[in-house]
Amino acid sequence: MSRPVFRFAPSPNGRLHLGHALSAIVNFERAQAAGGRFLLRFEDIDTERCRPEYEAAIREDLAWLGIAFEEPVRRQSEHFDAYRAALADLDARGLVVRSFATRREIATAAAAAAAAGAPWPLDPDGVPLFPGDTALLPADEIARRAAAGEPAATRLDMATAIDAAGMPLTWMETGEGPAGETGTVLARPETFGDVVLARKETPTSYHLSVVVDDALQGVTHVVRGADLFAATAVHRLLQTLLGLPEPVYHHHRLVLGPDGHKLAKSNRDTSLAELRAGGATPANIRRMVGLPA
Ligand code: GLU
Repeated sequence: MSRPVFRFAPSPNGRLHLGHALSAIVNFERAQAAGGRFLLRFEDIDTERCRPEYEAAIREDLAWLGIAFEEPVRRQSEHFDAYRAALADLDARGLVVRSFATRREIATAAAAAAAAGAPWPLDPDGVPLFPGDTALLPADEIARRAAAGEPAATRLDMATAIDAAGMPLTWMETGEGPAGETGTVLARPETFGDVVLARKETPTSYHLSVVVDDALQGVTHVVRGADLFAATAVHRLLQTLLGLPEPVYHHHRLVLGPDGHKLAKSNRDTSLAELRAGGATPANIRRMVGLPA
């Protein structure tokens, strides 16, 4: 029988913080307990914000925590063709829509609607749902952008995609979602609307590249923070449409900052490098993220 495959998939756009430490440790320990392989993957599709020095820093932080991973490490920016091919497949089956509307145009319309007393529907991450270009822009403006050859984003045509996949879709959750969901979870991709699959400036998106890579790398167990629990519904939908295998999912609790918010890479005081420079040991880090010594 082949061994289970786990992966830790940070974006090298900043230093790792305590939240990443929890994720990497839980991932690594579950891989070890299962006799599995452990991969590191750099999710660097945002080539503006991701930098080689952060990759080196992530390697250093993981080594310090005693976490060993297989080489070579996959770097998503080197595999844009694989994501383009998946997108072309969805496109050929009529499952995508092109959109000229910018994120700002959607946000402006949502804010105007809210101000007029008609709250705009939001996805589970709090992002305003995309209503279609025709709801946002005058027809002649859409025609002008098309004629001028302006770059467009590619979105999943959610309603058509759901029809094509056939519902219901589920996943096996061995951790838990924000409301304690565990076991067989019903996927509700419709709550995300027409999600972005490729941006004007990037030939892929997080959702598309994560499902393509998990399949290409033979990942059997996805261990990550509960902030990505809801997005798993989109991943299950894309896996089904693209004929990709279904991993088991384990979402873990998040490490919250003193203000009760999720940690961000900009929280320098909780970066592993700062804590290490201040004299913290890996055992201290375990304690700080609530893991047994
Ligand atoms: N790259 C994502 C992040 O840093 C994690 C993706 C995943 O584990 O699916 O939040």
